[in-house]
Amino acid sequence: MSKRDYYEVLGVSKSASEQELKKAYRRVAMKYHPDRNPGDKEAEEKFKEASEAYEVLSDENKRAAYDRFGHAGVEGAGGMGGGAGFGSFSDIFGDVFGDIFGGGPRGGPSRGSDLRYTLELTLEEAVRGTNVKIRVPTLVSCKTCDGSGAKPGTKPNTCTTCGGHGQVRMQQGFFSVQQTCPTCRGKGKVITDPCGDCRGRGRVEETKTLNVKVPPGVDTGDRIRLSGEGEAGADGGPSGDLYVQVSVKQHEFFQREGRDLYCEVPISMIDACLGGELEVPTLDGRVKLKVPEGTQTGKLFRLRGKGVTPVRGGSPGDLLCRVTVETPVNLTNKQKDLLRELQATMAGDKHSPKQSSWFEGMKNFFGDMKL
Ligand SMILES: [Zn+2]
Ligand SMILES: [Zn+2]
Repeated sequence: MSKRDYYEVLGVSKSASEQELKKAYRRVAMKYHPDRNPGDKEAEEKFKEASEAYEVLSDENKRAAYDRFGHAGVEGAGGMGGGAGFGSFSDIFGDVFGDIFGGGPRGGPSRGSDLRYTLELTLEEAVRGTNVKIRVPTLVSCKTCDGSGAKPGTKPNTCTTCGGHGQVRMQQGFFSVQQTCPTCRGKGKVITDPCGDCRGRGRVEETKTLNVKVPPGVDTGDRIRLSGEGEAGADGGPSGDLYVQVSVKQHEFFQREGRDLYCEVPISMIDACLGGELEVPTLDGRVKLKVPEGTQTGKLFRLRGKGVTPVRGGSPGDLLCRVTVETPVNLTNKQKDLLRELQATMAGDKHSPKQSSWFEGMKNFFGDMKL
């Protein structure tokens, strides 16, 4: 992740005076102040970004280091200037702005992570829909302690270090610094008697078996959401969701493009010449396909309604059969003689119109080159 330039963040020039910096910071801070933008993560980020920029640029030493070395010059523990290092937003401005992020403890119950599962289906399963059982390794709420992490019969105690606030204040130089409570790590509660089954975590690993109902018409890239089947939340928070990602396997005959299916059909040279009836596969079985005489390689025949009905509804697509004329192999001498006999009767342009015009084109091409 790249960081924005601090001067850019505050919208000032590199030669900005201390006064200009202060003014610029006040303007940005007012605009993105969390009190004015409750619940707005983006504003909160912008506010933190501006605060960080001001913290560096308002300090003569840090600003000089930043001007020379960029972000690398002012980051990391034990960095420049031998100061107290570079703290988080709340460390630096806790004193100025107080409990702007609301008084409740941080790090409390949080929603569990969403999970993703890739489900491989055959084309037939995807087109017709199916029910499948999947096994998903996940975190579930511990049944022994009901997710609390405390041994049954006991309860988590209010943290005595922070009095349940999750935050503690410490004096550091001129600043009164607010920090996440080191004892309870912001939860406000401590478990003195942890549950033996989950070792106080409140969640245990488990491989769940789930039924997934796949609706007809799904395709690669479609997602099926199983609400609440993701990981259990921490500290009794709600569960995440499970996203089943569909991936359709390559089929022997068909390629799918949206609602249409394509299929390659080889036909003999004789059928191509004289016309004939072919058997072609569809998802519902074989059907007959009439090809006219003089059929060329690459010709597409459309079988209406033999494609796929999309999962979001609508009419079914078509099946498009692409013909490939096959050159006969393993000919006997007699067959070769018959072909030569045929060849002798086919002089002139009219039996191979494409070849004739192609040769014309080539002549012109080389003729132009000579000029
Ligand atoms: Zn437990
Ligand atoms: Zn605490």
